[in-house]
Amino acid sequence: MDKIKMTTPLVEMDGDEMTRILWKMIKDELLEPFIELNTEYYDLGLEYRNETDDQVTIDSAEATKKYGVAVKCATITPNAARMSEYNLKEMWKSPNGTIRAILDGTVFRAPIIVKGIEPNVKTWTKPITLARHAYGDVYKGTEMKIPGAGKVELVYTADDGTETRELVHEFDGPGIVQGVHNVEKSIRSFAHSCFKYALDTKQDLWFATKDTISKKYDHTFKDIFQEIYDADYAEAFEAAGLEYFYTLIDDAVARVMKSEGGYIWACKNYDGDVMSDMVSSAFGSLAMMTSVLVSPEGYYEYEAAHGTVQRHYYKYLAGEETSTNSVATIFAWTGALRKRGELDGNQALMDFSDKLEAATVQTIESGKMTKDLVLLTTLENVTELTSEGFIKAIRENLEAML
Ligand code: NAP
Ligand code: MG
Repeated sequence: MDKIKMTTPLVEMDGDEMTRILWKMIKDELLEPFIELNTEYYDLGLEYRNETDDQVTIDSAEATKKYGVAVKCATITPNAARMSEYNLKEMWKSPNGTIRAILDGTVFRAPIIVKGIEPNVKTWTKPITLARHAYGDVYKGTEMKIPGAGKVELVYTADDGTETRELVHEFDGPGIVQGVHNVEKSIRSFAHSCFKYALDTKQDLWFATKDTISKKYDHTFKDIFQEIYDADYAEAFEAAGLEYFYTLIDDAVARVMKSEGGYIWACKNYDGDVMSDMVSSAFGSLAMMTSVLVSPEGYYEYEAAHGTVQRHYYKYLAGEETSTNSVATIFAWTGALRKRGELDGNQALMDFSDKLEAATVQTIESGKMTKDLVLLTTLENVTELTSEGFIKAIRENLEAML
């Protein structure tokens, strides 16, 4: 069989620890035997980030703007322990944060659904994709403890010096106060990313805030989404038979719990922080969760939602067998390859991505899985495989399909 060719490079961002080991196994066993992989390689492993003063992270994000699609391995975000472990020059920032800032993107997380790993919410038969706005609100808030009686005001001083004031509260004793903000540009980017990704994945889009209570702050989110929808996306949504659905956040939560899934749920920063943990744990496992960063211009960066699985890596270094789940990393590759195929009109690449996903799901559904899933599954007579054994089992199924 001839290998599949790629006309345009895919940006490849390598990473750290156990996921770096899986990365190579996936390429060796599941990709390179079948595709003439055309990637522009960036090593985001912590050692090389340190060597390049983190320039490699910036370069990889710029390359994503150039080529449109990237696939990323999990990476270490340095903390004090990593400073000494890797003898770092500086406590480099989170690569995901740096890339997101450059692409101005929104992260969409979705579970991979397989029979035998049942969500805790029994009506959820399709994935719920969660989109979190990742700028501002309480995450960039300013807070004060108010020691005693006195007045707190919001003051806006315009560039020409004019002041506008709003009373927050007349305190007659101790209390607390919080100031939060957001910027229109970021909300607009968020909205564009959400509408684009809904069209891209042919799913309805839900968005919710507390606009009845927060008549200026949250209401602005609602208004911006509606304005952008009407101006730029309504026609395309109608043509695709999709719905943009706005409701109050508490109503959204109630509906989500009773839904069957199959839509994108866009959330403000705090709601997204909380709800993404709820949704992902209810679907079973972080190791079965994919993540894609979508920029308002339509650049895509695919990755697994989990980290570098450090504990397994130390076992691996000690020469012990590991049973680390590679599914989310495989789906990061298939997501990126399928998108590359779509943009380049490369049907063979798109078909291959579908088959590799199907082979992966089939492997689990036939009872062959890694330890994390063995602990969760409702299937009987399952076989626990090593990291490598699992990838080889997928390869067997894949070869039978090609
Ligand atoms: P983690 O790597 O997600 O792992 C936490 C635990 O979850 C693991 O110890 C393991 O549990 C389980 N797990 C996660 N992925 C798994 C998989 N594929 N297969 C089997 N089990 C899996 O989170 P962490 O240990 O908090 O973070 C490790 C490093 O990853 C940190 O340096 C952090 O900065 C980085 N990180 C990177 C990203 C990213 O690049 N997007 C995201 C998050 C964290 P058991 O040990 O019980 O088996
Ligand atoms: Mg959280």
